[in-house]
Amino acid sequence: MATVLITGANQGIGLALARTYAVRDDTIFATARDPAKADALRLLAPNVLCMPLDVTSAESLAALAARLQNRPIDILIANAGVLIGRGGIDDPLNDAQTWTETFATNVVGTVQTIRTFLPNVRAAKGKIAVVSSRMGSSARTGPNTYAYRASKAAISNVVLNLSLELKNDGVPIVALHPGHVTTKLGGQGELEPEQSAAGLVERIDELSLANTGAFVNWDGQPIPY
Ligand code: NDP
Repeated sequence: MATVLITGANQGIGLALARTYAVRDDTIFATARDPAKADALRLLAPNVLCMPLDVTSAESLAALAARLQNRPIDILIANAGVLIGRGGIDDPLNDAQTWTETFATNVVGTVQTIRTFLPNVRAAKGKIAVVSSRMGSSARTGPNTYAYRASKAAISNVVLNLSLELKNDGVPIVALHPGHVTTKLGGQGELEPEQSAAGLVERIDELSLANTGAFVNWDGQPIPY
Protein backbone atom coordinates (compact mmCIF):
# COMPACT_ATOMS: atom_id res chain seq x y z
CA MET A 1 0.00 0.00 0.00
CA ALA A 2 1.34 3.38 -1.03
CA THR A 3 1.03 6.86 0.42
CA VAL A 4 -0.01 9.28 -2.31
CA LEU A 5 -0.20 13.08 -2.26
CA ILE A 6 -2.28 14.76 -4.99
CA THR A 7 -2.68 18.52 -5.54
CA GLY A 8 -5.89 19.96 -6.97
CA ALA A 9 -7.86 16.85 -6.06
CA ASN A 10 -11.30 18.38 -5.45
CA GLN A 11 -12.44 18.10 -9.08
CA GLY A 12 -11.53 16.90 -12.54
CA ILE A 13 -8.49 14.70 -13.10
CA GLY A 14 -7.20 15.13 -9.53
CA LEU A 15 -10.46 13.84 -8.06
CA ALA A 16 -10.46 10.89 -10.50
CA LEU A 17 -6.86 10.08 -9.48
CA ALA A 18 -7.89 10.12 -5.81
CA ARG A 19 -10.79 7.74 -6.64
CA THR A 20 -8.46 5.40 -8.54
CA TYR A 21 -5.89 5.17 -5.75
CA ALA A 22 -8.65 4.89 -3.11
CA VAL A 23 -9.87 1.55 -4.51
CA ARG A 24 -6.29 0.22 -4.30
CA ASP A 25 -6.41 0.77 -0.53
CA ASP A 26 -3.60 3.29 -0.72
CA THR A 27 -3.52 6.22 1.72
CA ILE A 28 -4.24 9.41 -0.18
CA PHE A 29 -3.50 12.92 1.01
CA ALA A 30 -5.86 14.62 -1.40
CA THR A 31 -5.49 18.37 -1.34
CA ALA A 32 -7.90 21.14 -2.21
CA ARG A 33 -7.71 24.90 -1.99
CA ASP A 34 -10.92 24.90 0.06
CA PRO A 35 -11.77 21.53 1.66
CA ALA A 36 -15.08 22.96 2.95
CA LYS A 37 -16.26 23.09 -0.67
CA ALA A 38 -14.76 19.71 -1.62
CA ASP A 39 -17.67 17.45 -0.64
CA ALA A 40 -16.99 14.83 -3.33
CA LEU A 41 -13.44 14.47 -2.08
CA ARG A 42 -14.14 14.62 1.66
CA LEU A 43 -16.80 11.91 1.39
CA LEU A 44 -14.84 9.67 -0.99
CA ALA A 45 -13.43 6.98 1.31
CA PRO A 46 -11.86 6.63 4.77
CA ASN A 47 -8.40 6.23 3.21
CA VAL A 48 -8.73 9.58 1.39
CA LEU A 49 -7.68 12.42 3.69
CA CYS A 50 -8.71 15.82 2.38
CA MET A 51 -6.28 18.57 3.31
CA PRO A 52 -6.02 22.26 2.43
CA LEU A 53 -3.37 23.37 -0.06
CA ASP A 54 -2.99 26.40 -2.32
CA VAL A 55 0.16 25.74 -4.33
CA THR A 56 0.76 29.46 -4.88
CA SER A 57 0.99 30.13 -1.13
CA ALA A 58 4.25 29.51 0.73
CA GLU A 59 2.29 29.54 4.02
CA SER A 60 -0.14 26.93 2.76
CA LEU A 61 2.68 24.66 1.54
CA ALA A 62 4.51 25.05 4.86
CA ALA A 63 1.35 24.29 6.84
CA LEU A 64 0.75 21.03 4.98
CA ALA A 65 4.42 20.05 5.31
CA ALA A 66 4.14 20.64 9.07
CA ARG A 67 1.06 18.40 9.25
CA LEU A 68 2.73 15.60 7.30
CA GLN A 69 6.01 15.97 9.22
CA ASN A 70 8.41 13.21 8.19
CA ARG A 71 5.77 10.92 6.71
CA PRO A 72 7.25 9.18 3.65
CA ILE A 73 5.35 9.82 0.40
CA ASP A 74 5.56 7.10 -2.25
CA ILE A 75 3.83 9.05 -5.02
CA LEU A 76 3.62 12.84 -5.33
CA ILE A 77 1.28 14.00 -8.09
CA ALA A 78 1.54 17.70 -8.94
CA ASN A 79 -1.75 18.05 -10.75
CA ALA A 80 -3.08 21.51 -9.84
CA GLY A 81 -3.23 23.83 -12.80
CA VAL A 82 -5.09 26.70 -14.44
CA LEU A 83 -5.90 27.68 -18.01
CA ILE A 84 -6.97 31.30 -18.41
CA GLY A 85 -7.87 32.52 -21.90
CA ARG A 86 -7.68 30.50 -25.08
CA GLY A 87 -7.46 33.39 -27.54
CA GLY A 88 -4.79 34.90 -29.75
CA ILE A 89 -2.36 37.65 -28.84
CA ASP A 90 -5.03 40.42 -28.99
CA ASP A 91 -7.33 38.59 -26.58
CA PRO A 92 -7.75 40.82 -23.50
CA LEU A 93 -7.03 37.70 -21.44
CA ASN A 94 -3.45 37.76 -22.70
CA ASP A 95 -2.80 40.51 -20.17
CA ALA A 96 -0.07 40.50 -17.53
CA GLN A 97 -2.45 39.22 -14.87
CA THR A 98 -3.19 36.06 -16.87
CA TRP A 99 0.50 35.39 -17.48
CA THR A 100 1.38 36.00 -13.84
CA GLU A 101 -1.41 33.81 -12.48
CA THR A 102 -0.76 31.04 -14.99
CA PHE A 103 2.95 30.87 -14.24
CA ALA A 104 2.36 31.29 -10.47
CA THR A 105 0.24 28.14 -10.46
CA ASN A 106 1.49 25.91 -13.28
CA VAL A 107 5.21 26.59 -12.92
CA VAL A 108 6.14 28.25 -9.62
CA GLY A 109 3.43 26.43 -7.67
CA THR A 110 4.37 23.06 -9.14
CA VAL A 111 8.08 23.55 -8.48
CA GLN A 112 7.44 24.72 -4.91
CA THR A 113 5.16 21.73 -4.34
CA ILE A 114 7.99 19.44 -5.41
CA ARG A 115 10.55 21.29 -3.26
CA THR A 116 8.29 21.24 -0.21
CA PHE A 117 7.52 17.51 -0.27
CA LEU A 118 10.79 16.23 -1.73
CA PRO A 119 12.12 15.24 1.73
CA ASN A 120 9.02 13.05 2.19
CA VAL A 121 9.45 11.54 -1.30
CA ARG A 122 13.16 10.95 -0.70
CA ALA A 123 12.35 9.24 2.60
CA ALA A 124 10.16 6.73 0.73
CA LYS A 125 12.44 6.48 -2.32
CA GLY A 126 9.20 7.47 -3.99
CA LYS A 127 8.31 8.96 -7.37
CA ILE A 128 6.96 12.25 -8.73
CA ALA A 129 4.42 12.76 -11.50
CA VAL A 130 3.75 16.21 -12.93
CA VAL A 131 0.52 16.67 -14.87
CA SER A 132 1.76 18.78 -17.77
CA SER A 133 0.11 19.08 -21.20
CA ARG A 134 0.99 18.27 -24.77
CA MET A 135 -0.01 21.90 -25.44
CA GLY A 136 3.45 22.66 -24.07
CA SER A 137 5.12 20.29 -26.54
CA SER A 138 7.11 21.64 -29.49
CA ALA A 139 5.20 19.09 -31.61
CA ARG A 140 1.80 20.54 -30.69
CA THR A 141 1.91 24.21 -31.58
CA GLY A 142 -1.08 26.51 -32.09
CA PRO A 143 -1.82 30.21 -32.67
CA ASN A 144 -3.45 30.77 -29.27
CA THR A 145 -3.43 29.95 -25.52
CA TYR A 146 0.11 31.26 -25.21
CA ALA A 147 0.39 31.61 -21.43
CA TYR A 148 -0.85 28.07 -20.81
CA ARG A 149 1.32 26.55 -23.55
CA ALA A 150 4.39 28.40 -22.28
CA SER A 151 3.72 27.39 -18.69
CA LYS A 152 3.40 23.71 -19.61
CA ALA A 153 6.53 23.88 -21.79
CA ALA A 154 8.35 25.38 -18.81
CA ILE A 155 7.22 22.77 -16.30
CA SER A 156 7.98 19.89 -18.68
CA ASN A 157 11.46 21.37 -19.12
CA VAL A 158 11.87 21.44 -15.33
CA VAL A 159 10.92 17.75 -15.19
CA LEU A 160 13.52 16.88 -17.84
CA ASN A 161 16.35 18.70 -16.07
CA LEU A 162 15.30 17.83 -12.52
CA SER A 163 15.26 14.15 -13.43
CA LEU A 164 19.05 14.34 -13.78
CA GLU A 165 19.47 15.58 -10.21
CA LEU A 166 16.82 13.36 -8.62
CA LYS A 167 18.37 10.26 -10.17
CA ASN A 168 21.05 10.58 -7.50
CA ASP A 169 18.36 10.26 -4.84
CA GLY A 170 16.72 7.27 -6.53
CA VAL A 171 13.60 9.39 -7.20
CA PRO A 172 12.16 9.16 -10.73
CA ILE A 173 10.01 11.98 -12.15
CA VAL A 174 7.76 12.11 -15.21
CA ALA A 175 5.74 14.72 -17.14
CA LEU A 176 2.32 13.35 -18.08
CA HIS A 177 -0.26 14.46 -20.62
CA PRO A 178 -3.69 13.33 -19.39
CA GLY A 179 -5.38 13.44 -22.83
CA HIS A 180 -8.15 15.89 -23.66
CA VAL A 181 -10.35 15.30 -20.65
CA THR A 182 -13.85 16.59 -19.92
CA THR A 183 -13.30 18.88 -16.91
CA LYS A 184 -13.85 22.50 -15.94
CA LEU A 185 -10.43 23.34 -17.43
CA GLY A 186 -10.65 21.04 -20.47
CA GLY A 187 -14.28 21.69 -21.45
CA GLN A 188 -15.74 18.88 -23.55
CA GLY A 189 -12.95 16.40 -24.06
CA GLU A 190 -12.40 13.01 -25.65
CA LEU A 191 -11.93 11.19 -22.33
CA GLU A 192 -13.76 11.10 -19.04
CA PRO A 193 -11.60 11.85 -15.97
CA GLU A 194 -11.79 8.21 -14.82
CA GLN A 195 -10.40 6.90 -18.16
CA SER A 196 -7.56 9.39 -18.04
CA ALA A 197 -6.80 8.64 -14.38
CA ALA A 198 -6.65 4.88 -15.07
CA GLY A 199 -4.03 5.49 -17.77
CA LEU A 200 -2.07 7.96 -15.67
CA VAL A 201 -1.92 5.53 -12.74
CA GLU A 202 -0.56 2.85 -15.10
CA ARG A 203 2.11 5.30 -16.31
CA ILE A 204 3.05 6.12 -12.71
CA ASP A 205 3.22 2.40 -11.87
CA GLU A 206 5.67 1.99 -14.79
CA LEU A 207 7.80 4.96 -13.72
CA SER A 208 11.31 4.01 -12.62
CA LEU A 209 14.87 5.31 -12.84
CA ALA A 210 15.05 3.56 -16.23
CA ASN A 211 12.49 5.95 -17.78
CA THR A 212 12.82 9.00 -15.52
CA GLY A 213 12.60 12.37 -17.27
CA ALA A 214 10.12 11.15 -19.89
CA PHE A 215 7.13 13.10 -21.24
CA VAL A 216 4.36 10.59 -21.77
CA ASN A 217 0.76 10.56 -22.95
CA TRP A 218 -1.89 8.97 -20.68
CA ASP A 219 -1.90 5.91 -22.97
CA GLY A 220 1.88 5.43 -22.80
CA GLN A 221 2.86 7.07 -26.11
CA PRO A 222 5.97 9.26 -25.78
CA ILE A 223 5.52 13.01 -26.36
CA PRO A 224 8.36 15.22 -27.64
CA TYR A 225 9.40 18.03 -25.30
P1 NDP B 1 -9.93 21.26 -13.30
O1 NDP B 1 -10.22 22.71 -13.54
O2 NDP B 1 -11.08 20.32 -13.20
O3 NDP B 1 -9.05 21.08 -11.97
C1 NDP B 1 -7.95 21.89 -11.72
C2 NDP B 1 -7.56 21.68 -10.27
O4 NDP B 1 -6.43 22.50 -9.98
C3 NDP B 1 -8.69 22.12 -9.31
O5 NDP B 1 -8.75 21.23 -8.23
C4 NDP B 1 -8.22 23.47 -8.87
O6 NDP B 1 -8.72 23.89 -7.62
C5 NDP B 1 -6.74 23.21 -8.78
N1 NDP B 1 -5.97 24.43 -8.63
C6 NDP B 1 -5.93 25.51 -9.44
N2 NDP B 1 -5.16 26.46 -8.89
C7 NDP B 1 -4.70 25.96 -7.71
C8 NDP B 1 -3.87 26.46 -6.68
N3 NDP B 1 -3.35 27.68 -6.71
N4 NDP B 1 -3.62 25.65 -5.61
C9 NDP B 1 -4.13 24.41 -5.54
N5 NDP B 1 -4.96 23.90 -6.47
C10 NDP B 1 -5.23 24.68 -7.54
O7 NDP B 1 -8.93 20.83 -14.45
P2 NDP B 1 -8.29 19.42 -14.88
O8 NDP B 1 -8.66 18.35 -13.94
O9 NDP B 1 -8.57 19.27 -16.31
O10 NDP B 1 -6.74 19.80 -14.75
C11 NDP B 1 -5.82 19.05 -13.96
C12 NDP B 1 -4.45 19.18 -14.60
O11 NDP B 1 -4.49 18.55 -15.89
C13 NDP B 1 -4.01 20.62 -14.84
O12 NDP B 1 -2.64 20.74 -14.54
C14 NDP B 1 -4.22 20.79 -16.35
O13 NDP B 1 -3.38 21.76 -16.91
C15 NDP B 1 -3.90 19.39 -16.86
N6 NDP B 1 -4.43 19.09 -18.18
C16 NDP B 1 -5.77 18.96 -18.38
C17 NDP B 1 -6.25 18.64 -19.65
C18 NDP B 1 -7.71 18.46 -19.93
O14 NDP B 1 -8.06 18.18 -21.09
N7 NDP B 1 -8.60 18.58 -18.94
C19 NDP B 1 -5.34 18.44 -20.79
C20 NDP B 1 -3.94 18.62 -20.46
C21 NDP B 1 -3.53 18.91 -19.19
P3 NDP B 1 -10.10 24.77 -7.53
O15 NDP B 1 -11.23 23.81 -7.71
O16 NDP B 1 -10.01 25.38 -6.18
O17 NDP B 1 -10.03 25.78 -8.65
